[in-house]
Amino acid sequence: SPPNSASGDCPGPAATPRIVLFPSAGMGHLVPFTRLAVALSAGHRCDVSLVTALPTVSSAESRHIAALSAAFPAVRRTDMDLRLAPFDASSEFPGADPFYVRYEALRRSAPLLLAPLLAGASALVADIALASVAIPVARELHVPCYVFFTASATMLSLKAYFPAYLDARGAGQHGVGDVDVPGVYCIPSSSVPQALHDPDDIFTRQFVANGRALVAANGLLVNAFEAMEPEAVAALHGGAMVAGLPPVFAVGPLMPVVKLGETGEEQGNYRAWLDAQPTRSVVYVSFGSRKALARDQIKELAAGLEACGHRFLWVVKGAVVDRDDAGELNDLIGDDEGFLQRVQGRGLVTKSWVEQDEVLRHPAVGLFVSHCGWNSVTEAASSGVPVLAWPRFADQRVNARVAARAGLGVWVERWSWEGEEAVVTAEDIAEQVAAVMGDEAVAEKAASVLEAAARAVADGGTSHRSLAEFVRRCRGGT
Ligand code: UDP
Ligand code: UDP
Repeated sequence: SPPNSASGDCPGPAATPRIVLFPSAGMGHLVPFTRLAVALSAGHRCDVSLVTALPTVSSAESRHIAALSAAFPAVRRTDMDLRLAPFDASSEFPGADPFYVRYEALRRSAPLLLAPLLAGASALVADIALASVAIPVARELHVPCYVFFTASATMLSLKAYFPAYLDARGAGQHGVGDVDVPGVYCIPSSSVPQALHDPDDIFTRQFVANGRALVAANGLLVNAFEAMEPEAVAALHGGAMVAGLPPVFAVGPLMPVVKLGETGEEQGNYRAWLDAQPTRSVVYVSFGSRKALARDQIKELAAGLEACGHRFLWVVKGAVVDRDDAGELNDLIGDDEGFLQRVQGRGLVTKSWVEQDEVLRHPAVGLFVSHCGWNSVTEAASSGVPVLAWPRFADQRVNARVAARAGLGVWVERWSWEGEEAVVTAEDIAEQVAAVMGDEAVAEKAASVLEAAARAVADGGTSHRSLAEFVRRCRGGT
């Protein structure tokens, strides 16, 4: 291959592509962006810079950015001070989710703050939540703009189709029914992200604007792989759900690269505890980085884990933003009856950050009770740990269906999510956990998903080739 020029002053096919990555907010978006940054920088010798908006919403994000800089100084950071373009969220969107409010702040700041960062860039890769504002800024400067979709290919298909679905409904019609995504399959109304049922929700407005903008991008990257979502990837390639969709690059599952490191606040020493447990004996339970279960549901989950008879590692969260999560573990799980004492040794419960990817790769872990945030699903796929899916909000039911269809695990579709009254009972939880833990066929299928994921990202695999093709286009300036 041609030698790479280290400087930006030698354009042409041999030049090192200069790629600017622009994530939105929350670990669910930052984590795949840093994985992409390292894959492009270390794996494909691109000159990569990551735009970071400071201060971050959560402290996990700021620790993650620091860990990235320490481990991969070649990925340059371009810090953007959001105070330069303030907006008064509390009056416009009272009570809105702080991460969605941050998307909105970034969307309003982008024209002012992003343009100066694009001088000399070969390409901009913007987060899906910022697509409709980033594309015009890049276009104005003649910089190709790609959109990185951090969730499943199936969710991307729904997103690309959703504006057409709304338009076809006609004036005066409200509510969102089952959505039959052309070329993919029907997403039942009950699996459509809660917010999308309300046209005025801050998330819905962004979702629809970004969905309409996809056709204006130079290409779409998605952290998914063909073998896991064959219908959606094929439909995206063929533009089945919307005319004029640009090229789609399925580049997942992107591999973990940085750890947040010890924080001092870490409780319970989960690594040593895991090392002491037998192979495939532990149920790992986590609902992601940014949502807390209701207190009554936490109580049922505690009782369910106690009753299931298996060892467990449970990460409990008490707040949407980690900085607000100051309470004691006992109070959080309503432990006035000695639950923690009774499960001592068999169960480890923590409020702290755990290195989830490391946990999933640990031989002691046999099952992942997961909310099915897409990063969690990709990490389960690339470690071969079966999932018991318990989606809670947003795209998670769509992802749970993907996981179950692919053979990565089991989804109990009747289990409630946010906005539904029913509490899933301890008895039900214990029964399902025990059933899946005891099912050898589920474990075998999950292992075959791991094999498919490994093939996709290996040299010559579908995802490896897609990323190389994306880099080739950046080098050629398209
Ligand atoms: N994560 C982690 N430790 C935790 C909680 C979360 O490492 O204690 C990571 C997890 O591995 C994933 C990301 O944070 O990479 C969360 O993204 P996901 O899409 O799974 O869910 P979200 O938090 O966005 O709902
Ligand atoms: N999303 C989107 N458009 C937006 C914002 C988000 O398509 O304007 C997608 C996002 O990639 C994911 C889903 O909608 O598929 C839920 O978004 P959220 O930011 O809540 O992801 P989470 O933090 O839960 O992973």
